[in-house]
Amino acid sequence: MKEEGMNHRVVVIGAGYAGLMTAKRLARRLRRDQVHVTLVNGRAEFVERVRLHQLAAGQRLRHATLADLVDGTGIELVVDRVTDVDRAAKRVHLDAGDALRYDTLVYALGSGPDTTSVPGIAEHAYPLGDLDHAAAFATALPELVRTGGRVRVVGGGLTGIEAAAELAEAHPELRTSLVCGTGLGPGLSDRGRDYVHEAMTRLGVTVHEHAKVGEVTAAGLHLVDGSVLPANAVLWTAGFTVPDLACRIGLAVNAGGRIVVDDTQRSVTDPDVYAVGDAATVPGPGGRELRMACATGTPMGVTAADAIAARLTGRTPRRHAFRYYAQNLSLGRRDGLFQWVRADDTPRDRFFTGRRAAWAKERIVRFAALRPQRLTGPYRIPR
Ligand SMILES: Cc1cc2nc3c(=O)[nH]c(=O)nc-3n(C[C@H](O)[C@H](O)[C@H](O)COP(=O)(O)OP(=O)(O)OC[C@H]3O[C@@H](n4cnc5c(N)ncnc54)[C@H](O)[C@@H]3O)c2cc1C
Repeated sequence: MKEEGMNHRVVVIGAGYAGLMTAKRLARRLRRDQVHVTLVNGRAEFVERVRLHQLAAGQRLRHATLADLVDGTGIELVVDRVTDVDRAAKRVHLDAGDALRYDTLVYALGSGPDTTSVPGIAEHAYPLGDLDHAAAFATALPELVRTGGRVRVVGGGLTGIEAAAELAEAHPELRTSLVCGTGLGPGLSDRGRDYVHEAMTRLGVTVHEHAKVGEVTAAGLHLVDGSVLPANAVLWTAGFTVPDLACRIGLAVNAGGRIVVDDTQRSVTDPDVYAVGDAATVPGPGGRELRMACATGTPMGVTAADAIAARLTGRTPRRHAFRYYAQNLSLGRRDGLFQWVRADDTPRDRFFTGRRAAWAKERIVRFAALRPQRLTGPYRIPR
């Protein structure tokens, strides 16, 4: 129960794109005597996950501190790991032993690399999904470059394409290849895919399509057809998974462990819990689950913040309505592909490429990191 005379306590767990957006927008939507927002994150920095392939390729990234990003907002920042949530007592338990009381919880713990889908990933690959593994690959890179090592990037989706291109452009001494379980860039238009194939050839990246990996060992990739692709290093980009906390605390989750929410991002199990970003499952246009992306997670944060603010002030919340506009991928620092898509993410046969696309991608990535506090602009949810 809320104590008499106290403002409403919202605890946001996870300060990635979605959690930071929710916390900052909520803090701006309501007065400080109406809401107290606490933001909990395991790290003191804001990790731009969408740049981890750049980090893996040896670029130096500057991480903004969360303290700077919430400065002046009234948000209380707690840097600690969440270990548990007691929904009955409405408390978030932290690694340091403290507990934070909440009236409303926003669950935004994001996702990480899936190291269980194929045996040997955890032991013999660098999963490109979190800062630590990306940094570990960057540490191993100088020796790989010195010896002209063979690097296998696994995953033919956007992350794999971006990672292979980034590596090959920055380190032509490496023998870089891209191993795709199905085809290259399955979500792209035919002409867009042709462009990516040409870019890979230009960068010296060998593309293996329909090469399904059955196991990773110290020797390399063992494909399900029995062949072996030897490797000095494996960068794994195929698949993300979510923490099991949501399931452990009894929230309804889908088969992938993502929290089932209504059209205001509120858990269907618990009206005092909202979920945003990779941690939540939301049906998109055409009924297809929104893919894990900062492009989908940030608008979820908008919806959640607005819904919480509306309910606390006796208004009816607006429903989440999302449509896709484009898929934008970098192909190194000087090339890219900006693929227009329909509302349901299926590709149109319209795109642009080259430096203009690379520039557009860079602008979008910067915008995603720096603008979560804005109340207007593209983050106004399209109706
Ligand atoms: C290499 C790469 C490239 C990508 N490129 C794109 C792209 O171009 N466009 C796009 O839209 N998406 C892209 N993505 C996907 C995108 O990064 C994710 O979908 C997005 O980061 C999800 O945002 P989020 O806020 O839900 O979670 P996250 O960004 O994962 O943030 C979750 C936060 O929770 C914290 N946390 C987790 N567990 C705990 C705990 N127990 N206690 C405390 N804190 C915790 C984490 O430290 C983190 O700060 C890319 C991903 C990768 C890896």
